[in-house]
Amino acid sequence: MMRYIAVLGSTGSIGTSTLRVVRQLGNRFRVLGLTANSNIDLLYAQAKEFKPEFVCVEEPQAAFCLQKKLKTKILTGQEGLKRIISDQRLEKIVLAISGSAALKPLLTAIECRKKIALANKEALVMAGPLIMQKVRAAGAEIIPVDSEQSAIWQCLQAEESNKIKKVYLTASGGPLRGCSVQDIKRVSLKKVLEHPRWKMGKKISVDSATLMNKGLELLEAMYLFNLPAKEIEILIHPEAVIHSMVEFVDGVVMAQLSFTDMRIPIQYALTYPERLANNAGRVQFTRMKSLNFEKPDFKKFPCLQLAVAVANQGGTAPCVLNAANEICVQAFLNKNLKFCSIPMIIEKVLRKHKKVSVPRLEDIFAADAWARQEAIQAIRKAN
Ligand code: NDP
Ligand code: MG
Repeated sequence: MMRYIAVLGSTGSIGTSTLRVVRQLGNRFRVLGLTANSNIDLLYAQAKEFKPEFVCVEEPQAAFCLQKKLKTKILTGQEGLKRIISDQRLEKIVLAISGSAALKPLLTAIECRKKIALANKEALVMAGPLIMQKVRAAGAEIIPVDSEQSAIWQCLQAEESNKIKKVYLTASGGPLRGCSVQDIKRVSLKKVLEHPRWKMGKKISVDSATLMNKGLELLEAMYLFNLPAKEIEILIHPEAVIHSMVEFVDGVVMAQLSFTDMRIPIQYALTYPERLANNAGRVQFTRMKSLNFEKPDFKKFPCLQLAVAVANQGGTAPCVLNAANEICVQAFLNKNLKFCSIPMIIEKVLRKHKKVSVPRLEDIFAADAWARQEAIQAIRKAN
């Protein structure tokens, strides 16, 4: 039977990898909708190949340009996304939009009781407890795509969650692992964007260099698996072969290993509960010299420290961390902020924040908007 899916954020790193998986799986999936922010050239090529019924572009001007070339009706903005997400035929939605822009489509997908293959992590960080509560109430389902969360989720299948002792969240250490504090002060944009293990979008690449990515994943894991921060230990594992592990009450540890290729967790999220063959690389045990593990260096990577602090605070603190981080990363990419100033600005904003302990959705949006303004002002002052 043909299964209908939509790929939101289809022009990004995860989006294009998802379409490669769909292509490799032949006739199994029919792509009903594709969406992007403004990259209409790639979206055009994808629409020509996958022939979706709906294409949605966030920017109205870009939508207008694409409509001239494509017969398919081009939708725009939240309304357009809603039309796609709410389609009755749709079985699964791959949510690969980057940043906080994914929150509204995620909420819509939950309301529509969809199965959501969730790559985006920022939406969960902003409003994790609320999102998980809505998922349960609506009877929707989140299937993790982020490789670490997929690993934990796979280790937990057939296990009872109350038998978990702790989770080991592994991190490759990012492109600056071997650098000294002095090197990090002078680090270039090029070096930051050169990840040793994964090829990804720019925002997550900067987050991998600051280790904020691991901090966001700590929050993501807390919400997805209903765990307190103290039961999740971050472990630097430079080989990035083990994608995370779970220790159970009897001392048994389950680990998930695979080749470092996002198509593996993407495919499993798409085909779950089925596991299908693919042509991805394989783990080569006899070629492995060693597997190394070390504790993260919080002094060298203060963003990770900040994320751990907000994980313990809860409420609107994670949302503020996320918003300030998004503004800082954008400023760094625009060469308006030094790499080592990213954690300083985020900390400043967090210090000024008056936390709402049990936020409603309005509180989340308000905290997000406030933190962005504060971060912009703090960056202006720093320059
Ligand atoms: P990219 O920047 O490569 O792609 C982002 C996608 O979202 C693009 O299709 C982009 O469109 C679209 N988009 C961006 N902003 C908006 C907006 N305001 N409205 C609508 N669409 C928008 O990101 P990645 O693929 O790297 O990451 C996507 C998400 O998955 C992130 O949350 C990331 O943390 C997470 N993730 C990524 C991994 C990876 O390996 N890349 C691994 C694990 C998680 P356009 O191209 O037009 O700009
Ligand atoms: Mg990850």
